[in-house]
Amino acid sequence: MEPPLTDTQGIKTRFAPSPTGNLHLGNVRTALYSALYAWQQNGQFLLRFEDTDQERSRPGFVQSIMSDLRWLGLDWDEGPGCGESCQEDYHQSGRAEIYQHYFDQLIEKELAYPCFCSNEQLAAIRRSQLASGQPPRYPGTCSRLSAEEVEAKRAKGIAPTLRFRVPKDEVIHFEDLLKGEQHYHCRDIGDFVIRRADGSAAFFFSNAIDDSLMGVTDVIRGEDHITNTPRQIMLLQALGLRIPRYAHTPMLLGDDGSLLSKRHGSFSVQELRGQGYLPEAVVNYLGRIGQAVDVEECLPARDLAQHFFLQKMSHSPARFDSSQMDFWQKKAVTRLDTTKALDWSRTRSMVPEAQQQQFVRLILPNILFGEDMKKWAEILYQPLEEISDAAQQVLQETDPEFFAAAVQSLDEVGEELSRFAAVLGERSGRKGRALFMPLRAALSGRLDGPSIPDLLALLGVEEAKKRMQNDRILSCPNHRK
Ligand code: GLU
Repeated sequence: MEPPLTDTQGIKTRFAPSPTGNLHLGNVRTALYSALYAWQQNGQFLLRFEDTDQERSRPGFVQSIMSDLRWLGLDWDEGPGCGESCQEDYHQSGRAEIYQHYFDQLIEKELAYPCFCSNEQLAAIRRSQLASGQPPRYPGTCSRLSAEEVEAKRAKGIAPTLRFRVPKDEVIHFEDLLKGEQHYHCRDIGDFVIRRADGSAAFFFSNAIDDSLMGVTDVIRGEDHITNTPRQIMLLQALGLRIPRYAHTPMLLGDDGSLLSKRHGSFSVQELRGQGYLPEAVVNYLGRIGQAVDVEECLPARDLAQHFFLQKMSHSPARFDSSQMDFWQKKAVTRLDTTKALDWSRTRSMVPEAQQQQFVRLILPNILFGEDMKKWAEILYQPLEEISDAAQQVLQETDPEFFAAAVQSLDEVGEELSRFAAVLGERSGRKGRALFMPLRAALSGRLDGPSIPDLLALLGVEEAKKRMQNDRILSCPNHRK
């Protein structure tokens, strides 16, 4: 038996996705907590692909999961593509020999036996157990087969699964890092399948074996896996392998209150990337769900790790909240520097070089997505084509004299743009919204966005005057009278 983990042992966590779909926010949250927990303690974060289910696993999902993790800044310290490692080391499909070695050990110790029950037989047993009010559990039918009976079934060509013989009178204890002491009576757990009829290792088995062999010290995963844990502890105990610590985190629900799954397309990382969310926004939002982090700043994942304490996490499930996601997006956006912002919004070629810095500084606080920024580049640096209905309405309600007064005021203040509003206020007798909204409408064709002095600075006085004298504006019905 390997000695138990000690407190001083270096921390190693892992993310072990099955490549059967794109990453959704529930998975990312598990990956994020695992990475942050390790990095907070100068430990290692490992990536492993659990692709023993050949039918549902796809190489394309392996690529997209790795690309999403890298995009999020969750680069793994150990796993596919790191150092000298070869693909087989971290893809379970390449580790069949290792699992076979441990199947053989269990068979030799008579702790595993072949099961010939068909799916139909198992379903019938389940139905009758449920009908008589018993919990569904394998009744051990094949555990009592003699060697001759086993041979006879094999001779008929029936491919068996391999079941683990659960010790009947034991209680499995473990200390969940989040939920505290847990215990499960083995009598409530039926003998379970560890090798499928096609010879591949079942999830319970390969997952537990790999965690132990790869030196994972702390398994952090969703609480939907908590009932797997006693089974996995039994397996590791039976094989004399080291047992990691476990933490089962509350589930992340969609905004409709249902469990996030691969079906929730809109909560996939791909979808959020496509919508224009920044990786820091995703990481900082998810990192704060269900726990108070002591910094308000939007930080890259490795820096956020210094403020992350798994044990402080709430025990209740959390709902995805798009307003919080946008709150962190706003923070992430305002941290972009000129180069990054221009690349992200694809506006570099639209904005005159001398104006780029100012454009980015004044526009970033007003937008959430790169597309919005592009819109502002069009508004400011291309002929003003689009006037929103609300802006149209404001223009119709504004006398042409107001714009004449605005042009005169601009001439009067010259370079001192900060005086413009006061001078125009005096001249036109307007103030507040009545003063600013028609100006916004005329200058940008919309009623939101940067302040009037900022708009003037970005447009330049000549262009601003042109827009206020624009035929199209002056030809609004009210202006024609
Ligand atoms: N491959 C499993 C999954 O994607 C891993 C579960 C675990 O983290 O132990 O659900």
